Amino acid sequence: MQKATPMLRQYLELKKQYPGTLLFFRLGDFYELFNEDAILGSRELEITLTARQKNSPNPIPMCGVPHHAAGNYISKLVRKGYRVAICEQTEDASKTKKLVKREVVRIITPGTAIDEQLVEQKEPVYLAAVSGSGESFGIAYLELSTGEFLSTGFNGRDAWSKACADIESFAPKEILYPRSAKQLVENGFGRVRYGLDGGIKRDLFGNQGSPANSSITLTQRDNHAFDNSICRRALKKQFGVKDLSAYGLSGMNETINAAGACLNYALETQNSTARHISEIKFFDAADSMILDAVTLRNLDIVESGGFEKSRKRSLLGVIDETITGMGARLLRSWLLRPSIKRTEIETRTAAVAELMDSVLRDKIRFLLKEVADLERLVGRLNLGTATARDLLALNRSLGKTPGIKESVSDASSLLLQVLDENIFELPEIQDLISRSIDDEPPVNIADGGTIRDGFNNELDDLRSVSTNAKQTIAGFEEAERQRTGIGSLRVKFNGIFGYFIEISKANLARAPEDYERRQTLTNSERFTTPQLKEWESKVLGAEEKIKELELSIFKQVRSEIVDHTRQVQSTARALATLDALCSLAEVGAHRNYTRPELHDGDSLEIKNGRHAVVEAYSEEGFTPNDLRMNNSTDRLLVVTGANMGGKSTVLRQAAIIQILAQIGSFVPASYAKLPIIDRVWTRVGASDDLASGRSTFMVEMTETATILHNSTPRSLILLDEIGRGTSTFDGLAIAWAVVEYLHNSPKHSGKTLFATHYHELTELAEKLPGAKNYQMTAKEIDGEVVFLHKLEKGKASKSYGIAVAKLAGLPAQTIARANQVLEKLEQYELAVFSDKEIVPAEKGLEAAVGMANKTRTAAQVSLFAVSNEEIISELRRLKEKDLSPDDSKEILEKLKNEVL
Ligand code: ADP
Repeated sequence: MQKATPMLRQYLELKKQYPGTLLFFRLGDFYELFNEDAILGSRELEITLTARQKNSPNPIPMCGVPHHAAGNYISKLVRKGYRVAICEQTEDASKTKKLVKREVVRIITPGTAIDEQLVEQKEPVYLAAVSGSGESFGIAYLELSTGEFLSTGFNGRDAWSKACADIESFAPKEILYPRSAKQLVENGFGRVRYGLDGGIKRDLFGNQGSPANSSITLTQRDNHAFDNSICRRALKKQFGVKDLSAYGLSGMNETINAAGACLNYALETQNSTARHISEIKFFDAADSMILDAVTLRNLDIVESGGFEKSRKRSLLGVIDETITGMGARLLRSWLLRPSIKRTEIETRTAAVAELMDSVLRDKIRFLLKEVADLERLVGRLNLGTATARDLLALNRSLGKTPGIKESVSDASSLLLQVLDENIFELPEIQDLISRSIDDEPPVNIADGGTIRDGFNNELDDLRSVSTNAKQTIAGFEEAERQRTGIGSLRVKFNGIFGYFIEISKANLARAPEDYERRQTLTNSERFTTPQLKEWESKVLGAEEKIKELELSIFKQVRSEIVDHTRQVQSTARALATLDALCSLAEVGAHRNYTRPELHDGDSLEIKNGRHAVVEAYSEEGFTPNDLRMNNSTDRLLVVTGANMGGKSTVLRQAAIIQILAQIGSFVPASYAKLPIIDRVWTRVGASDDLASGRSTFMVEMTETATILHNSTPRSLILLDEIGRGTSTFDGLAIAWAVVEYLHNSPKHSGKTLFATHYHELTELAEKLPGAKNYQMTAKEIDGEVVFLHKLEKGKASKSYGIAVAKLAGLPAQTIARANQVLEKLEQYELAVFSDKEIVPAEKGLEAAVGMANKTRTAAQVSLFAVSNEEIISELRRLKEKDLSPDDSKEILEKLKNEVL
């Protein structure tokens, strides 16, 4: 092998220091990628793969992107789940003869992205870290762009499954974990990733980078990064405290490890301090209603499912009328983790109720229009990327605070009063920015003019030196024209030669003695004079100094504002909260929602409830429905009715109303008295999980099993069409046993809404004391179904499946035949389902499957009989006595051929 060149050695050295990243190596005006990075990069970025040392026996694969366009390429890679290390030339190439020094100045990873190209305005970017094993786990979440830092812990037998649900609800872009937790994390989040993205991919580093946007990048770190004393030290240093008990972390070693690892990783990527990460909040996941990934997807909470994922047709899409990005993100977080603390919820609802006053709300919303995303602005200030325009936006935002405070100052609700106290006007900051920053600063500070005249004496002096010299030079041109008599003489400036006198070739003879030649062009000659040189150095010297000084003043102003980080953060949080509350009030008022009444009992009563999203998009209007449940007589409702009759909708709307109530919102109903629910469980619809090789049925059963094991009396359980993925009898048997279990188990029996096509289950519901039958009504008029979408007591008489198939356009012939077959099948209704015996819950599944097996043989004969009815009729017609042995043989053979 040939020896590596010094530059390549430098590359390999850096590459070794940053494993698992794509190294963008700065070479002049390009960032280059080499070796395996180049192969991967060229494929992912669709750019040409070339080679260095092309003609040698070992050419080095290479690809590159121009530095000025690098942002787009980097975003593309990070969005795909890769980590990118940016390596710059850290010394001036023209000032050294040796190899230029290069260093990695920033690492951009999916979980630590702060660039505007990479972050969605209305969504947070969380970096999560997991530490622990067995029955104890600590989790931390860091949102680097705003400095939000959260942590929690889980203990006990189901610690890991709870931790997974928690992580799913935060939907982090990246998860850090120690080598020791590799198996657990990859298994746990492989599942989610398969589910959401339908694909998983291994990159060349052996890491799992996934192609879709909603993917999670799994980042393994050395166990060392999770070392307790290292982590403790890092956190204490960041927050400037002697111990961590003030943050509720004493004794929480796994949580400390996760938090420390999270913080250190984020700091490593930034190459800057991040003082806006000023505290860590410990929360107990048990204080929130749990909505896992399956439920979030089934209920279209923040994103609607289907092929075209869209935010608009989700619950969040309907209730988000926020004005600021920070308000939108906060509202989203409420929806992902509704509260289960009644006082907290009611405090919010009271504020929303007060904001129903449109005069008050409109005034606040009008002022909020001028408020920037202060949470992220504070992040940019602290990470050193805030621009002069950011400072102006901060000033404008702070300028609105007196008006906003004045609006809420007379509020009677506690939350609005608290918000008022947390909004700071910061007049000293407003004054500083107004005095220092020009109203229309350039995008790039190097272009000059960012700092106002009159703010800094030295800057003013330099500016006047520069202006005077420029004026003198302008006067010099006229003077020289007079002196030389050359009317066309010009004094010009360019970046390479500075100031010069230009005269045409024709006038060359008249050039005075003291002109020094600088450059010869085809038609003209360029000169300078000692005097011109002196003025030139004054101008250029002053301008150089102006640039440096403007930058240093700007940094100084920025750092003075950074000193107020805590107050700006508090203001940002309060304004975001106000924005989110106003949004709930705005939607409540426009969509005619009511204030729900929450109580500590178990009854649930909804009058004229509507599905928030279906209603918002329905062109034909929405039929409201009532619902009553409790944990005794009405704990399990079996809902039957026509396909397309509205069963799924009525199930989901119950959960959505409950969720809205628990975020503090008004709800789409005319009346709602609700209990506090600890978790919504859903098993809705059929979705194949092809990528992971799990069949629809397997997914369905896995989800059902999770519900049966984990639901509590405080849970709301929605089961839609359990048992559909297998044969009718298996499915029915399972559905039967599940209903019994959820009805009977004291530990797991919450409130269950069970939509089904198995009419046999209605008979079961009649026998169970806590179950009730409901139906979605439909009428059949001249063979056509008309859906009434009305939920009523009782059981549907039929499924109207064939009528719906007809609506869907199945050929008339097929419909006629289906009706015929149905009629036959109905003659074989099974006796077992009118059986008096009810299988006890603990024997549930096994016993019910046994029961179905007993009847299966009979059923299969009957199905077989229907499909061969022609043969049966033919057999009936035969008169054996009249047949010769040969005829008998022939007929037998023919029938055998038809049947077998
Ligand atoms: P099912 O689960 O019984 O098959 P769905 O709940 O999926 O039926 O409802 C089918 C369609 O009927 C929905 O997409 C919706 O447009 C409409 N729908 C359902 N419930 C109502 C209602 N209460 N009012 C108006 N339209 C409704």
